[in-house]
Amino acid sequence: MATSGGRGDNLCGAKTRKGGTCGHPAGYGTDHAGIGKCKYHAGSTPNGRKAAKKEFARRQVETFGLPRDIAPDEALLEEVQRTAGHIAWLGALIQSSDPSELAQYTKDGDKPSVWMELYQSERVHLARVAKAALDAGVAERQVRLAEQQGELLAGAINRILDGLNLSSEQWARVADVVPRELRAVSA
Ligand SMILES: [Zn+2]
Repeated sequence: MATSGGRGDNLCGAKTRKGGTCGHPAGYGTDHAGIGKCKYHAGSTPNGRKAAKKEFARRQVETFGLPRDIAPDEALLEEVQRTAGHIAWLGALIQSSDPSELAQYTKDGDKPSVWMELYQSERVHLARVAKAALDAGVAERQVRLAEQQGELLAGAINRILDGLNLSSEQWARVADVVPRELRAVSA
């Protein structure tokens, strides 16, 4: 992954007494290799570690393409919530669907449905975002809470949709509308 933000090419970069900048790799000799100050420049102090976690969160927000007008750890938590909601919603959709409707027919034989593919990729995404949030110093309890909130929200949406007896045309639009609105709610 390329570094960004003009923070040097993954070097410690601390000002040295001679007026230059430290050329050790970022996080050299600390428990946050690749990010932040080296062990000679307060990288292992509580503040040095905190700064490294913050920088890590900022980079993750960039990697995942999340909103940047809020604190990075908040953005990661929101993404956990949104993704967990999306997964819960997709899971219910898959469960309630006729398997024959879900398969994709290709010339090489049947493939799992687009829903199933999306479900699986969202699960991978959730695991990555949750890990990023934990690595950025967010408490595990908060990450689990965000997941639960997403699931609760998706459950409510599912019950509402079930009660509406939608036409197949309306159902087709649900796939666009629901994820978009889930994102809007968590933002
Ligand atoms: Zn240094």
